[in-house]
Amino acid sequence: MTKKNSVGTLCVHAGYASGKGQPRQIPIIQSTTFKYENSEQMARLFDLEESGYFYTRLQNPTNDMVAARIAALEGGVAAMLTSSGQAANFFACFNICEAGGHIVSATSIYGGTFNLLGTTFKKMGIEVTFVDQNAPAEEIEKAFRPNTKLVFGEVLSNPGVMVLDIEKFARLAHDHGVPLIVDNTFPTPVNCRPFEWGADIVTHSTTKYMDGQGVHVGGAIVDSGNFDWDAHSDKFPGLTTPDESYHGTIFTKSFGKLAYITKATTTLMRDLGCIQSPQNAFYLGLGLQTLHVRMPRHCSSALEVARQLESSPDVAWVNYPELESSPDHALQQKYLPDGSCGVMCFGLKAPKGVNVREFTSVFMDKLKLITIETHVADCYTCMLHPASHTHRQMSDEQLREAGVAPELIRLSIGLEDPADILADIRQALEAARQK
Ligand SMILES: *Cc1c(COP(=O)(O)O)cnc(C)c1O
Repeated sequence: MTKKNSVGTLCVHAGYASGKGQPRQIPIIQSTTFKYENSEQMARLFDLEESGYFYTRLQNPTNDMVAARIAALEGGVAAMLTSSGQAANFFACFNICEAGGHIVSATSIYGGTFNLLGTTFKKMGIEVTFVDQNAPAEEIEKAFRPNTKLVFGEVLSNPGVMVLDIEKFARLAHDHGVPLIVDNTFPTPVNCRPFEWGADIVTHSTTKYMDGQGVHVGGAIVDSGNFDWDAHSDKFPGLTTPDESYHGTIFTKSFGKLAYITKATTTLMRDLGCIQSPQNAFYLGLGLQTLHVRMPRHCSSALEVARQLESSPDVAWVNYPELESSPDHALQQKYLPDGSCGVMCFGLKAPKGVNVREFTSVFMDKLKLITIETHVADCYTCMLHPASHTHRQMSDEQLREAGVAPELIRLSIGLEDPADILADIRQALEAARQK
């Protein structure tokens, strides 16, 4: 397959071509180790002088075929699979930022990533400055320091569905000689290919739409191959100076455009071992084969539900990038013209004299088809009310300070018929009002 094929064809075929008598589908290579010709060949593998498989903690053929499919979809030069989306963001940053380093990150990112950067990285000696992604470039500029190693953001933030101005962030990063890493979990490469807008590295929680049926937890990192590490050698010595754990290998010299992913595989996977199991990679490969068919459906159903909610007298507000009322509508039109994703947020209006937080909680309990879940972005429509669930210990006041309205509901539209989703919302509202 070549990159000239369109997205749908890549979803089905990229990363694997079966020969005569071979399996049609990507096979699961369920093996810890691999056989070598002789000890000299094994030594060459360990010295990175020859590429090949030797132990599944570092690399596995099933994973590599599926990773190659994701690399083709994103238009990157190389990709790797990790055990989770968390591991993908951890590896993507830690591969080029160690103790003493600094990261500039958008504030509106997934809670797990916010904790990883703000809490765990801090313990590891990495400082992070969070910035308002909608602030003018001159404002964000002030966050950079001489030891800044990368800029991080989410193309579509979870759960706020804010759209990142990728070009603005890429320009800021490149002006300071560092790469832009973006998490493209919600749009998927079907709706946005961030490399085309200047991002250097893309991460994914493959747990979400890429899988699509909620069967595996996994992550992926893709490198565009565009960032010139050698031009900023002083900032990235791990890639541009001899690595003593590999007999003085210089990753950029030995591997060129594959340096970043090779380093992550041969040092981080070797030492930390957060690899995706081949079985999970197989499920991911299956999910990818229908991604281009599923994403448009998630988006069209979500838009239909968002429009209906917006025109309902029981709904106070709806936040979905495709709606003209969204503050990010112009960014959606630019970066996600074919659709954003199936996730939106909205708030209900309570009947007179009823507390909206309590009313929302009652409404949620009356749902029949839509499930209450912390998960998002798969075939099942689900809702989460942070004030009743994930943030329940906080007062209304504390919630507002954290940027979560007490009435905020996160809604993830699955693949059911939108008419049935809307009917369930209507009957739950009816029942909640009668209580
Ligand atoms: C879910 C999610 C993650 C974390 O992924 P896991 O697979 O749950 O570890 C990271 N980023 C985004 C945008 C997510 O939605």
